[in-house]
Amino acid sequence: MTAASPPSASPAAIELVALTKRYAQGSPAVDSINLRIKSGSYCCLLGPSGCGKSTTLRMIAGHESVTSGDILLDNRNITDLPAASRGTAMMFQSFALFPHLSALDNVAFSLKMKGMGKAERLARARDLLERVAMGALAGRKPAELSGGQQQRVALARALITQPKVLLLDEPLSALDPFLRIQMRAELRRWQKELGLTFIHVTHSQEEAMALADTMVVMNHGLIEQVGSPHQVYNRPASEFVARFMGGHNVLDTPAGKIGVRTDHMRLTPARQAAPDSLHNRRAVVTDVEYQGTYVLLGLQNPGVSRTAQTTAELSVMVSEAEFAARPYALGEAVQLTWTPEAAHSLQSERCAPVTATA
Ligand code: ADP
Ligand code: MG
Repeated sequence: MTAASPPSASPAAIELVALTKRYAQGSPAVDSINLRIKSGSYCCLLGPSGCGKSTTLRMIAGHESVTSGDILLDNRNITDLPAASRGTAMMFQSFALFPHLSALDNVAFSLKMKGMGKAERLARARDLLERVAMGALAGRKPAELSGGQQQRVALARALITQPKVLLLDEPLSALDPFLRIQMRAELRRWQKELGLTFIHVTHSQEEAMALADTMVVMNHGLIEQVGSPHQVYNRPASEFVARFMGGHNVLDTPAGKIGVRTDHMRLTPARQAAPDSLHNRRAVVTDVEYQGTYVLLGLQNPGVSRTAQTTAELSVMVSEAEFAARPYALGEAVQLTWTPEAAHSLQSERCAPVTATA
């Protein structure tokens, strides 16, 4: 390769086959997962803390050994390759730039480690900084750069090895909420512009929905669901996904558990002697929260005891205008209704690991 070659290689697909990581006795941190990630796509691994996201990412990166299973990059088995020869690169939480080095030296660092001559590595680093619109600030140290500028330097530093897949472990989680939203828009833009495969680990549903072409929802080392943000939000496969994504009520029916979006339920004053059926529930208002464009009402099924184990609580989103026209008071008896189309069945047990080609 020469200094004139393009800074990023062509993207690659990643395939995980029965990938397992067992640190010690007990259940594995990653439990025989199967997953295909399409070349050039933005994939988010999402799930609560401890579900195995970082372990999965570190195994792909080659920073963690694999207990069993395989990792394929464009059909090439990379499971046992050293990190530097896999065609992947990692971008860490809050960018992890070297504070004492200039942006240019940060970007050139890994080439220095590889023994590349000074002139060539600085030329390559300068080239990449130009590409992320940071050429003019190449001499600055990280502390002299804004959060957005630091992110671009971190991106350039990750891209200098010409990876086919960029791996990002909670890159935005240390930022303040405002900057986080700005930075994620920028990440998304760079991913599209570079056309690279991104695998981004996050515990934030909102972040994953904003970024991902494909979301992979994990729980206890297993994959619960793979799909587009729209698919996962509108058709959560399991009770876990419905509860973790939020915005859904989970209801018990004779036919099993169903999920209904909180904004797809209609609230009316209680009618007399209306029976609880599949498409309606009686409830009592227990909470009223003003949220701006809508009001979120917390509700409790009457007659169901409120313990730590039973989650009888429901919630309904009512538009601000609708609530203003007909406000509900705490303790008021109400009726919830929904259309059959608004309800979908949920697996209460964890579903089998899903393989999907996104
Ligand atoms: P996540 O990134 O989803 O929060 P991790 O992949 O970091 O989860 O961890 C998954 C599980 O593996 C957790 O139970 C965690 O405690 C355990 N774990 C992670 N790293 C190690 C390690 N180096 N040694 C032992 N257990 C680990
Ligand atoms: Mg993690």
